[in-house]
Amino acid sequence: MIEDWFWLLLPVAAASGWWAARRGVPEEEETRDPALDRYLQGVRYLLDDRTDDALQTFIEMVEVDHETFETHVILGRLFRRRGEVDRAIRIHQNLVARPALTDAQRAQALCELGQDFLLAGVLDRAEGVFRELMNSPNQASEALEGLRHVYETQREWDKAIEVGNRLRAEGSPQEPLRVAHYHCELASEALERNDLAEASERAGQAEALVPGLSRALLLKSEIAEREGRIREAIDHGSDAVARTPRLAPLLVPRLEQLHQALPGEHRLAALEQVLTDLAEERGVTMARIALMRLYRRTGRMDRALHELGVILAQRPVPTSGLLEAVRWMKVLPAVQSYVSEFTAFEKALSDQLRSQHLYQCTNCGYQGRGHVWQCPSCRRWDTLRGLDFDIDQTTEDAEAALIREESH
Ligand SMILES: [Zn+2]
Repeated sequence: MIEDWFWLLLPVAAASGWWAARRGVPEEEETRDPALDRYLQGVRYLLDDRTDDALQTFIEMVEVDHETFETHVILGRLFRRRGEVDRAIRIHQNLVARPALTDAQRAQALCELGQDFLLAGVLDRAEGVFRELMNSPNQASEALEGLRHVYETQREWDKAIEVGNRLRAEGSPQEPLRVAHYHCELASEALERNDLAEASERAGQAEALVPGLSRALLLKSEIAEREGRIREAIDHGSDAVARTPRLAPLLVPRLEQLHQALPGEHRLAALEQVLTDLAEERGVTMARIALMRLYRRTGRMDRALHELGVILAQRPVPTSGLLEAVRWMKVLPAVQSYVSEFTAFEKALSDQLRSQHLYQCTNCGYQGRGHVWQCPSCRRWDTLRGLDFDIDQTTEDAEAALIREESH
């Protein structure tokens, strides 16, 4: 938990110098100052996770000395961390209103106030504060990060791009990926209103920022599909899953579905080729499961059995692989006396599959069933990845389509 309190070290350093300067004493004597001793005691409480003791210490300090800037800043932060955001706002508003502050202090107090407003969900006031600070020499980066938070929350992607470009110019390494996703958000909105030209333009801008970005490839696949260019749609989708195999739960069902739109004589051969490439060259388990299903439905049992063996040799065994195995066994003539048992087993596995998390954030560990491009917990972009490619949402559809194919 120590890293949570890292921000405290800066005020400590600043305050130490400030105290020493105020009293005109050399640094080695500063720890004899009882006020600084109390301050350092408060920081020690924080490092020991004794937040209540720390809070009490800082409250007593500001009661004794109303003028201390740093102590007020920390006290406000402590209230904010405890969720007492109204008290944090009052403290920081009082600080901002002081006439004797330096420009740097006023900017720091305003920045704290902006963070309070963010946490309180008063986004228009947070925006106002951060806009005021975005060109200040000391707080510009914090203000731009605050504005990003506001615009991401409000889904104002054009403004988020404006802020991201400012931070990108300052060399922030994560910025190209974030800005690329803002363009992808705009592309998705354009797709929703069927503005394919705008969607294509935005996907292109995203890919220019992050070449090979899977989300941009997926968007290009969707655009190509709407324009009837199915093979191109398949190529973009295959490229996306090859580049990011752990997005397979999102992409493999789409590839299976896209192949249904190909001319009949090429459909299965093309799908087999795509799935084989993904399974053999990229190690995509979900593609192997789809391949096994395809072999089984087209009567190539030896191949299907081989793929099943590879799937079941994995650790952990993907639940979706077990489910496929049970569905297969259920129709074998030798087990027809046990169909009800196999059906119960199939249902148990299916229920388990439907109740488990499918994606995990590679940054913070958040888990969820649905895929989202921004982690709802840590707010990083493009960090959710499939846990073990378990997904069952299109299995029935894919099987039904293949059965139709066989009957033609
Ligand atoms: Zn996360």
